[in-house]
Amino acid sequence: MMNNKNTFSLYIHWPFCRKKCSYCDLNSHVRDSIDENVWIDGLIKEMHYWHKFTAHYKMETIFFGGGTPSLIQPKNIEKIIKTAKTLWKPYTNSKNNHLYIGSNNLYKGREIDNLYKNDEIEITLETNPSSLEANSLREFKNAGINRISFGVQSLDDDILHLLNRTHNAEEALKFIQSSLDIFNNVSVDIMYGLPTHTLQTLQSTLDNLLKLNIHHISIYELTLQKNTLLNHQIENKELFLPCDEQIANEYELILKSCKKHEYNRYEISSFSLPGYESRHNQNYWHSKQFIGIGPGAHGRIFIENENDLYSIMQTSTNINESTSVNKNVSSNQSADFTIIPQSELNKSKNSYNSYSNEITSKKSHYYSIENSKIPEKWLEKVQNKHNGLKVFENIDIDTQIQEFIMMGLRVTDGFSILDFESRFQVKFSTITSQDKINKLLDHNYIEINQHNIKLTYSGIIRHGAICKYLIF
Ligand code: SF4
Repeated sequence: MMNNKNTFSLYIHWPFCRKKCSYCDLNSHVRDSIDENVWIDGLIKEMHYWHKFTAHYKMETIFFGGGTPSLIQPKNIEKIIKTAKTLWKPYTNSKNNHLYIGSNNLYKGREIDNLYKNDEIEITLETNPSSLEANSLREFKNAGINRISFGVQSLDDDILHLLNRTHNAEEALKFIQSSLDIFNNVSVDIMYGLPTHTLQTLQSTLDNLLKLNIHHISIYELTLQKNTLLNHQIENKELFLPCDEQIANEYELILKSCKKHEYNRYEISSFSLPGYESRHNQNYWHSKQFIGIGPGAHGRIFIENENDLYSIMQTSTNINESTSVNKNVSSNQSADFTIIPQSELNKSKNSYNSYSNEITSKKSHYYSIENSKIPEKWLEKVQNKHNGLKVFENIDIDTQIQEFIMMGLRVTDGFSILDFESRFQVKFSTITSQDKINKLLDHNYIEINQHNIKLTYSGIIRHGAICKYLIF
């Protein structure tokens, strides 16, 4: 693996949507009109700002997320991509990257080697499969996008209406189908655990999507967020969430359907044909560096030069050199830890602390970047200071270790203990106890092969609880 400090991924956030989906608490906003060029200038200005401190890094991927970034005109997408490529050299070393699998392979009739040729890197655009947003697919391809990701959520019109989506099922299928003639890498997001969902509606959505031979599918459980219309509807008993048993059955159905259609689960919520794993998201899960540009965007970056550090700190609103970012290990999985006794869990809370002095005394040069969320506030900052920073915060070593383990165990291949030790200069055995490892092995929740640790099939659905047990 190339040194994590030499490469990064670029995330561009476009915060505008045509309307707000009923479940959404992402940083997305509806505006009557905007002057697009002013916002594009802001994004480019912020890219130049971060380039000053990262000129020597190579860029592995670009991801346009939102909001709805496909509302940006293709000519402006091209402008951003060209600027990024002018500022940073691409990182395309395929030899040591396990993601770049396949050589002269055909899979379902498609070539899977040379997915990206020469110095091409993965460049993803999120879009909604509605005529208002997806009509420009070919123009986006010409602008430099080589991976398209559709927010479909469901192919049931009643559910789409309930979620306040901009598309219907027919439109979604039409645009996904035409995108497969244009792009060699098409991803779709769907959701489960939705109100009024039945196993039949989910099965039908999965069948209709997977038989198209899309390359990648992400499947997320609905998380009810405060201050959303859906939450209000649930609280008022206008709608009802499915029970735990229904959710578990839906998850089983997803696993079976993906397996039947030969999609490989490579992360808790992500499935792909071989070779089409999302490289951008893999970089998050492998705790690599990323720079977030745009309102509310986040980043993680090494800054070792004291002058650079001083310069950044001069321009952010809320700087914090000494305290770490949020240490709570949160979980989107319900913690089913009944097999391991509570006394054991309590005991585990203290063992990490007893090892942590050695770790926390090490100097960390790793920083969390967080931009202002309100678009107009971000724009004002960028126009005045060339960045939209709200928080720039040091991440101490033990927080980095927690993030590394939690993110690394999301992927089905887990992580290399050697990579862990090389990154943190600390033995893995000092951050947890052999006793805990043995217990997790006994319960068949983890597997350790050579120098790799990963969760098993039954471990991955207890991801949050196991991470907590291992590191606290
Ligand atoms: S399109 Fe996406 S970002 Fe926009 S409101 Fe809907 S879920 Fe949120």
